[in-house]
Amino acid sequence: MPVQKKKKHKVTYIKSAFLPPDYPVHKKKEVAFVGRSNAGKSSLINALAGSDVAKVSNTPGKTRLINFFNFGDSYVLVDMPGYGFAARSGDEIREWTQAIEGYIDQRDELVGLVLVMDVRRDWEEEEKMLMRFANKVGLPVVVAMTKIDRLNQKELKERLAAIKQHAHTDKLFPVSSTKEQGYDVMEDYIYKEWIKG
Ligand code: GDP
Repeated sequence: MPVQKKKKHKVTYIKSAFLPPDYPVHKKKEVAFVGRSNAGKSSLINALAGSDVAKVSNTPGKTRLINFFNFGDSYVLVDMPGYGFAARSGDEIREWTQAIEGYIDQRDELVGLVLVMDVRRDWEEEEKMLMRFANKVGLPVVVAMTKIDRLNQKELKERLAAIKQHAHTDKLFPVSSTKEQGYDVMEDYIYKEWIKG
């Protein structure tokens, strides 16, 4: 795995919102990051930013909101609320589903979704649901598989194959925020396919 290139943007927090009327107004493209709580989404966003930006999203009161950040002049990174339904009430699940589906359905600026998952976890109901939302509106998805530093090569190969089979996509990017691996490849893909295109 190549050592991370240091190619960072000036990242600034724009605002947090729940419903479409509160989304920020701008002329850039948006790339949204979504994942199960604890998947490593904040660490990945911080790694891409080269600073501790995602802490905003983890402050109390903001965890259920959609958080918008300028990534330099090139695009707006959207940090979506984490999921993990087992521990949540029916109302919370409905609220999350409504916010996420509403955003994906209605946001014209949105050009792609980064589904963040711990490489050691299986593809579950929530990931299926997110794929359905994206497919419905023809939105491209990549899967960032985090924490690859926790596995050896053989285990990693097995996990990649298992996730690929269920995700029905070959746009899978193995990453480690801790070891600074892989996310430059994913970022290059996002630029080439979603931002510049
Ligand atoms: P979030 O809830 O999806 O935003 O997840 P966080 O980014 O807060 O990470 C959850 C936990 O996983 C934290 O303890 C992180 O330190 C850890 N973590 C995140 N990324 C990595 C990684 O690439 N490698 C390892 N070993 N741990 C990670």
